[in-house]
Amino acid sequence: MALIVHKYGGTSMGSTERIGLVAKRVAKWARAGHQMVVVPSAMSGETNRLLALAKELAPQRQTKAYARELDMLASTGEQASVALLAIALQAEGMDAVSYTGWQVPIKTDSSFTKARIESIDDARVRADLAAGRVVIITGFQGIDADGNITTLGRGGSDTSAVAVAAAMKADECLIYTDVDGVYTTDPRVVAEARRLNTISFEEMLEMASLGSKVLQTRSVEFAGKYKVPVRVLSSFTPWDIDLQEEAASGTLITIEENVNMEQAVVSGIAFNRDEAKISLLGVPDTPGIAFKILSSVSAANIDVDMIIQNLSKDGKTDFSFTVHRNDYARALDVLQEQVAPALGASEVIGDPKICKVSIVGIGMRSHAGVASKMFESLSAEGINIQMISTSEIKVSVVIDEKYMELAVRALHKAFDLDAEAA
Ligand code: ADP
Ligand code: ASP
Ligand code: MG
Repeated sequence: MALIVHKYGGTSMGSTERIGLVAKRVAKWARAGHQMVVVPSAMSGETNRLLALAKELAPQRQTKAYARELDMLASTGEQASVALLAIALQAEGMDAVSYTGWQVPIKTDSSFTKARIESIDDARVRADLAAGRVVIITGFQGIDADGNITTLGRGGSDTSAVAVAAAMKADECLIYTDVDGVYTTDPRVVAEARRLNTISFEEMLEMASLGSKVLQTRSVEFAGKYKVPVRVLSSFTPWDIDLQEEAASGTLITIEENVNMEQAVVSGIAFNRDEAKISLLGVPDTPGIAFKILSSVSAANIDVDMIIQNLSKDGKTDFSFTVHRNDYARALDVLQEQVAPALGASEVIGDPKICKVSIVGIGMRSHAGVASKMFESLSAEGINIQMISTSEIKVSVVIDEKYMELAVRALHKAFDLDAEAA
């Protein structure tokens, strides 16, 4: 008997029919003798629907101003899901109970809309499991020290599930979704993408943080930190397939590096359309300039991703960086109104129509020339690179958004990731 956590995403919970199928699948696992904790997301579209209602009532206000209420609102999507799943399981003849984040409780900090889990008290859940119940816990939400409901950021149910699995020392956390595993790149963008049987935790972390939304980045961090075995698999297989077959399907995130494994140089390609670029032209090239620019941006609570400073000419230089597209207008304001006049910069220009494309692979550690191969294949497509950043296991470039799919396809092919034609 094992303790297993299942997580079901929005599409998997998308209708009462689908919830019924989730209940049958969970019941199959419970009847096989496993202790089951299930963490569902809101039904697909529900979180967006709720957030849009809020926007309708406060179109001019920044969402930050009412973040607490947004969490109160958005958390209801998952509350409905857990109740419906418990009802469906009971209809299947299973003993099942649903809990919201505050009932467990899952304690978080107070950063509304992007809270971090601090602790999980598993006593109540353990007592239910011991009594033979399936326990269903809301994804995406928790409670802060003052009793406010918080949410963990979009896609946060992944993190709830892995955190619950970590806290309970579960044998495995299975993330059921609408694709049958982690692919070399988003299979909805590149038809030739291949499913990976395994991916190292480090690579998955890079892929997620560079834009592959198949798993929320924080969930991968939890998996690595607490050594939780995580598997991504499809909820769209027939619910009654053989349990062993199901348990071995999808993609396993591996924690230990398998040194004997034939390691591809590049394992996957991630992309992100959520960024925007801002450049400050003609700033004096003197000590403290980067600090002055970036500290003003950070004082406005805006995170900066890539940064590039050009060579100086006549004591002046250009300085560019990227921010999340949601922060673009605000960042531009800060630079135009505060930073540029203070530093005597000649101009502030911005471009929200960019994207970041990244190649990821632990194989890069032992191979030279990976970046130049990337640049070569982008140039062969006539794609101009605007910014570059590298780390030990990734190379990212910023390019014009309109070339994103072309770039991802070209790189997928150049690094031999395309699936063999059937
Ligand atoms: P869920 O609602 O189950 O959490 P998500 O939409 O958050 O599902 O994540 C699954 C989606 O992630 C897939 O439908 C796919 O389009 C996208 N995706 C992006 N990159 C990848 C990748 N490398 N492998 C698999 N899926 C990916
Ligand atoms: N329902 C939340 C969202 O749409 C959390 C999740 O699905 O993981 O972001
Ligand atoms: Mg998701």
